[in-house]
Amino acid sequence: MLSSAIMHTRIAQVSIDNEALRHNLSQVKAFAPDSKVIAVIKANAYGHGVHNAAAVLSGADAFALATPNEAVLLRQSGVTKVLIVLQGFSSLDELKLLASHNIQPVIHHPSQVDLLEQCAEVTLDVWLKVDTGMHRLGVPADRVEACCQRLRACGSVANIRLMSHFANADDPDHSLNQQQLSVLNSIADQTGIHDISMANSAALIALPDSHKQWVRPGIMLYGSSPLNGKSAEELNLKSVMQFESRLIAVQNLKQGDAIGYGSLWQCPEDMRVGVVAAGYADGYPRHAKSGTPVWINGALCPLVGRISMDSLCVDLRGVEISVGERVVLWGRELSVDVVAKHADTISYELLCHTGAGFVSSTR
Ligand SMILES: *Cc1c(COP(=O)(O)O)cnc(C)c1O
Repeated sequence: MLSSAIMHTRIAQVSIDNEALRHNLSQVKAFAPDSKVIAVIKANAYGHGVHNAAAVLSGADAFALATPNEAVLLRQSGVTKVLIVLQGFSSLDELKLLASHNIQPVIHHPSQVDLLEQCAEVTLDVWLKVDTGMHRLGVPADRVEACCQRLRACGSVANIRLMSHFANADDPDHSLNQQQLSVLNSIADQTGIHDISMANSAALIALPDSHKQWVRPGIMLYGSSPLNGKSAEELNLKSVMQFESRLIAVQNLKQGDAIGYGSLWQCPEDMRVGVVAAGYADGYPRHAKSGTPVWINGALCPLVGRISMDSLCVDLRGVEISVGERVVLWGRELSVDVVAKHADTISYELLCHTGAGFVSSTR
């Protein structure tokens, strides 16, 4: 992520639309009206600035962070809401740190139960993460009952809630989704725990059976679509990060002239090419392919040639645009999802790499 010191010296700038962020939270509640909301604001709120996001999302019931330090920093900044650490703790010191700040860890591995058993002097609520089929973090289904018994015997554990995560929620028809859900349901019956969180953004929208008591939206809060084949606009989600810059040069080139490093793209005819002050140093993906749209004054201009550190080039055929024109790399005028697709990645990665603590809020 870029530091504020760097960003303030750049022409390319990121700003955050707080109204859009609040709107997307209201969409979460419209999709899952009977569930409490754990707003996922890990990785600096997917690059949107975690302190601002926490303030704007005050309507959420809880916040989820990835690591203990993220959560402690947020707590120390004065946030009093329920804070959940998705990766939990990995040492006694971290466990004590979380307990002393009233932060709830996710327990995903027996080694964490060992630490809880060694730490009788603290009290905290925990989330037991169950591996229902993703095979990343979580206690295997056949070990959950035993793990629960150990947790219940721990003096340090007050409440136990259940959590699990879908591997394929972006593809709602994938057969593993229903399998994962039925494993989760039988674990709920087995353990008698009916305080459960399963749904990420995609499941929140497309798999209502998975809503349970707590939903865990991340990406949809930031106005990007979590579903393959559905746009953010179709889901009534509004873009939160506005990534803009300006056109700093217009070149009149001849047929056959090649553009940029590696001379990869050649002008098929005499034409105008624009240079935008945004490159990979600003968080624009270097692997975005020629043809990726760039919004300039109402036109979608295709990117041409390689992305440089501080600039990128666009095909200006058919548009009358001059130096100084406002350029949107992604935001309200052009979805980050479209750019991500052209760069063979997902919006999550682009957002995380672009934003940072420097961001200014609008509206
Ligand atoms: C990041 C994360 C989420 C949020 O996922 P989105 O797809 O951004 O909604 C939910 N749960 C867990 C465990 C996560 O790591």
